[in-house]
Amino acid sequence: MKRILLLTTGGTIASRLTDEGLAPGLDGAALSHYLGGLPDSYDLTVRDILHLDSSNIQPEEWRLIARHVFEARDEFDGVVVSHGTDTMAYTASVLSYMVRNIPVPVVLTGAQLPIEHPLTDGLDNLRTAFAMAASGYPGVFLAFDRRVMLGCRAVKTHTTAFGAFDSVNWPLVAQVNGAGLTIRREAVPPLDGPCRLRDKLCEQVFLIKLTPGLDPEIFDMLLRMHYRGVVIEAFGAGGLHFIRRNLIEKLHNAALAGMAVVVCSQCLYESSNFSLYQAGQKALAEGVIQGGDMTTEAAVTKLMWVLGQTDRLEEVRALFAKSLAGERSV
Ligand code: ASP
Repeated sequence: MKRILLLTTGGTIASRLTDEGLAPGLDGAALSHYLGGLPDSYDLTVRDILHLDSSNIQPEEWRLIARHVFEARDEFDGVVVSHGTDTMAYTASVLSYMVRNIPVPVVLTGAQLPIEHPLTDGLDNLRTAFAMAASGYPGVFLAFDRRVMLGCRAVKTHTTAFGAFDSVNWPLVAQVNGAGLTIRREAVPPLDGPCRLRDKLCEQVFLIKLTPGLDPEIFDMLLRMHYRGVVIEAFGAGGLHFIRRNLIEKLHNAALAGMAVVVCSQCLYESSNFSLYQAGQKALAEGVIQGGDMTTEAAVTKLMWVLGQTDRLEEVRALFAKSLAGERSV
């Protein structure tokens, strides 16, 4: 039997109705009560590490989860992390970098309805997550609605539907159907070195979703607040305004101040390409780093992680050009 570690962190799956709405209330032992026959198929260990709505999961919690996952890699064949859905894509992305090259499957999952609810999707999601955790395919994944995706490509796209997540710009890693868990090998990026816990992050990273006419002074404010990195969700394939309100000259100042600026697209699907239009090329001339087809979640957490590893902008640029865990196409 495969040895599986279940790390519980809270989220809807473990929530109960309180006077203030749904809040995490079930611990791992209570969760296990609802697992039906699942524990008969696996050698299961359950550890409660957090009891939080995932809106409260922040860099401190990412480091805690990463340490538990990292320390489990020799003792267990796979790890499942139960987690709220709201920030699960961020946690899945950041873990992909923090425990890069982890030699076992690490699978995040959760639910849209609490496990105590008669119509819960939680049990199904846990079943898929356990099967993936026992698959022997290493990496960080997210299992939901009988589908498994690469953690750093997952995005929460629905607030209530059971199919809450999409795999963006990357095929599904696995699906559950009449043949069981059907894994697409080529969708699992190969390991390229030993696994080390690298959990240093720079928390001074800001995300700007560009809106027509956005005041460029936002950059002065961010510099005054000592932000070291900015991800810009720009328009379409890659454009920023520069008439009347000139964002480009602010990019120049940001670069002089040593700020790393990564540019992505507001479009969820397909890649940005800032060399296509004048409004993008002007930004490239100021040294912005292209995010390619990364999701916003993967880009923001990658910038936090990369700036935690190095201060040198050229190294930041080189790390961004690479795919560290399958987060971008190269
Ligand atoms: N607010 C919850 C959370 O993210 C939502 C969920 O788990 O589905 O913790």
